[in-house]
Amino acid sequence: MNESDYGIEDRRGHWRPIAPIRYPAVFVWPPQLLGILKWVPKYVFPWGLVYALLAMLVWTYLTPSIDRLRIFSMDWVVLIFLRNLGLHIAIVGGWHFWLYMRRAQGTNFKFNRKWPDDVNPVFMFKNQTKDNVFWSLASGVPIWTTWEVISLWLYANGHIAQLTFIEQPIGFAMLLFFVPLIHEFHFYCVHRLLHWPPLYRRFHKLHHYNINPGPWSGLSMHPVEHLLYFSGFLIYWLIPSGPLHMLNVGLIAGISPAQGHTGFDRVVTSDKSSLALPYYAHYLHHRYFVVNYADGSIPLDKWFGSFHDGTPEADEALKNRRTKGLKR
Ligand SMILES: [Zn+2]
Ligand SMILES: [Zn+2]
Repeated sequence: MNESDYGIEDRRGHWRPIAPIRYPAVFVWPPQLLGILKWVPKYVFPWGLVYALLAMLVWTYLTPSIDRLRIFSMDWVVLIFLRNLGLHIAIVGGWHFWLYMRRAQGTNFKFNRKWPDDVNPVFMFKNQTKDNVFWSLASGVPIWTTWEVISLWLYANGHIAQLTFIEQPIGFAMLLFFVPLIHEFHFYCVHRLLHWPPLYRRFHKLHHYNINPGPWSGLSMHPVEHLLYFSGFLIYWLIPSGPLHMLNVGLIAGISPAQGHTGFDRVVTSDKSSLALPYYAHYLHHRYFVVNYADGSIPLDKWFGSFHDGTPEADEALKNRRTKGLKR
């Protein structure tokens, strides 16, 4: 794989994709059928499908039965915690091992050519990876599990309007389809709130220490940010839904940040093929702080004036915004 076919290195040694970040022609008025038809496969493959299938596997093999969930007990709470911990360590650790320990593709397609510093006093334990692992496992996974456990218990006891595949297959499938999009919208709202200066300084700053992020940076957040970030479960308390939707949102929120923070544009899979990681928008958020609060599927940043498409022109526009005194 020749990375120069896909991007260029700027004067500061940062690699950027040649193609600007673009939004699909879906969130436009009037609706464009062709745009929607082109967008669906990109939205579903591979990550939407991967996390939906993972949720199905987890529901079938790694979640206690509804009867058991009805009675609150530490036995099954601990099992769910260990399952989430195991999945998180295996998948996030897998990304980290491949790209940062084994350095399987070197700095090919890496936005920031430098590797994270071994010693950096801004982080706990003076080390980015150790700090990131600590916040992810000591706070992220327990808070994710807490939201999930309460959601499953509420569902099992009939406190949430039930949406089942047997009785409402279309509604069930439609909601499953929209789970990633609902997650992104919720993430944008919470993230935007966390950039309000008092909240930023106290809570969100911790995540932004990761200027040169790696997979473990994804869920490296202050516990208060974890509480807000995983509050997307609340949406499924208010609308008819099922455990599969809840597991799906938990897995997307708990594990997918790893691939969004790899710091790479692509994973090289062979001499001639690679897998695109469409998260340059979020990398730019870590680099510039005040752009791209959403993940790049819904054009919220475009609508609210914080979009950076990765081009030198957008760099200029940002400089101008900064000279006008824009705060993060
Ligand atoms: Zn981030
Ligand atoms: Zn942020």
